[in-house]
Amino acid sequence: MADRIDGKAFAENLRAEISRHTRALTEETGVQPGLATILVGEDPASHVYVRNKNKQTKAVGMQSFHYELAAQTTQQELLALVDKLNQDSAVNGILVQLPLPAHIDPMTVINEIDPAKDVDGFHITNVGKLAIGEPGLVSCTPLGCLMLLKDQLGDLSGKSVVVVGRSNIVGKPMAALLLQQNCTVTIAHSRTRDLDKVCAQADILVAAVGRPEMIKGDWVKPGAVVIDVGINRIEVDGKAKLVGDVDFAAASENAAAITPVPGGVGPMTIACLLFNTYQATCQQKGWLDRQMDL
Ligand code: NDP
Repeated sequence: MADRIDGKAFAENLRAEISRHTRALTEETGVQPGLATILVGEDPASHVYVRNKNKQTKAVGMQSFHYELAAQTTQQELLALVDKLNQDSAVNGILVQLPLPAHIDPMTVINEIDPAKDVDGFHITNVGKLAIGEPGLVSCTPLGCLMLLKDQLGDLSGKSVVVVGRSNIVGKPMAALLLQQNCTVTIAHSRTRDLDKVCAQADILVAAVGRPEMIKGDWVKPGAVVIDVGINRIEVDGKAKLVGDVDFAAASENAAAITPVPGGVGPMTIACLLFNTYQATCQQKGWLDRQMDL
């Protein structure tokens, strides 16, 4: 029976560590890291995410600046706000909550953010740095997965990894990060043939698909570590339930360790946003020795 990888507890410890570093930084230098969040429109899920982010930002001792814009806000107006925050020295990290309304191009807005303040790691400069192995800001969810994997396995060198999903925010950066860790990485997607056999080769299986319990128990190699990024809302006996992309019960029979949904990867994402904000502050000030270890 697999170990359950407790992302909730790991994220709590990480936030405590970030809080310790943040408070020491402020006490010793007078600098209090600041994170600005921008929300455009009325998407209810986005409101919940951003409220959580702001609450946790304050809880670790950082400043939280929040901007709520109407759904009709023009792209020009949004770009002007991003420019203003780029210039604001109290703001060390900028997050534009996605999705944006259809009349706004998300990549144009994200690429307007100063790459040094791009704590989501979505700016083309940070994506490029990750691709060529230079230090930069890394997308929060894959960074959280990497932390869980290193905690579980230590050195990842030589491990055979299959990442199912090739999105720009999860699958591709996850694969790039694991390649940097000297893993042998396969990226699978909707056109992959014999996905079950591909998955069964993996020492580490990362599922980032968005399809409830698509990865079956017998696709998991005995002794593998399974990271389930998926968050899917399904109905069971008339009640809403969250499940991952992996059939947790069946996969637990084969895996050595597996993340549950909820309580696995999910809580790591905001913790890594705060981690990135702390690191970005140190980098902007040139205090590289104050950065936290990964
Ligand atoms: P996307 O929809 O952007 O990407 C899904 C990927 O899965 C695509 O690359 C797609 O392939 C692939 N895919 C779809 N169907 C299949 C299939 N039948 N077989 C193989 N591959 C398939 O999703 P995201 O990457 O944004 O998110 C993935 C999941 O992770 C979602 O459930 C999302 O809610 C969750 N998530 C969780 C986060 C967290 O904090 N824990 C953060 C971000 C996401 P193709 O490219 O060929 O279409």
